[in-house]
Amino acid sequence: MDCIFCKIVAGEIPCDRIYEDTEVLAFLDIHPKTPGHTLVIPKTHSENIYDIHSQSLTAIMSSAQKIACAIKTALAVDGINVIMNNGAAAGQIVFHAHLHVIARFAAGSNTSRHEELGIVASKIREALL
Ligand code: AMP
Ligand code: ZN
Repeated sequence: MDCIFCKIVAGEIPCDRIYEDTEVLAFLDIHPKTPGHTLVIPKTHSENIYDIHSQSLTAIMSSAQKIACAIKTALAVDGINVIMNNGAAAGQIVFHAHLHVIARFAAGSNTSRHEELGIVASKIREALL
């Protein structure tokens, strides 16, 4: 199957890894909406909300909570969106189920700076420990 996120899980494509366990992988989005934009995916392939196994959904949501807390600590954010796009009409581009964890910063905040993905990833990983 030609799925880019399955290739990331298999280690065939690199990623800036944030978190991993037996069921879940989380890594930085390659085109971040804001600093720390993280994708949380089940290691087992499913397309989206319609076919994901409930155990995988629980696992990615639970991981997204931990990662949101770590992003809040690491990047001093003002808010966080957890978003799932389901279907092309909803903006889904990659058809391997995933949650977006996206930090939001108040207008005028100085945290919307650009940092190398690797540096942002290590800050979030440290806050997860
Ligand atoms: P969606 O619109 O919910 O399907 O979002 C897919 C997301 O995956 C987009 O925000 C892309 O920037 C991101 N993406 C695509 N390829 C990669 C990749 N190789 N590594 C990290 N993020 C990716
Ligand atoms: Zn996949």
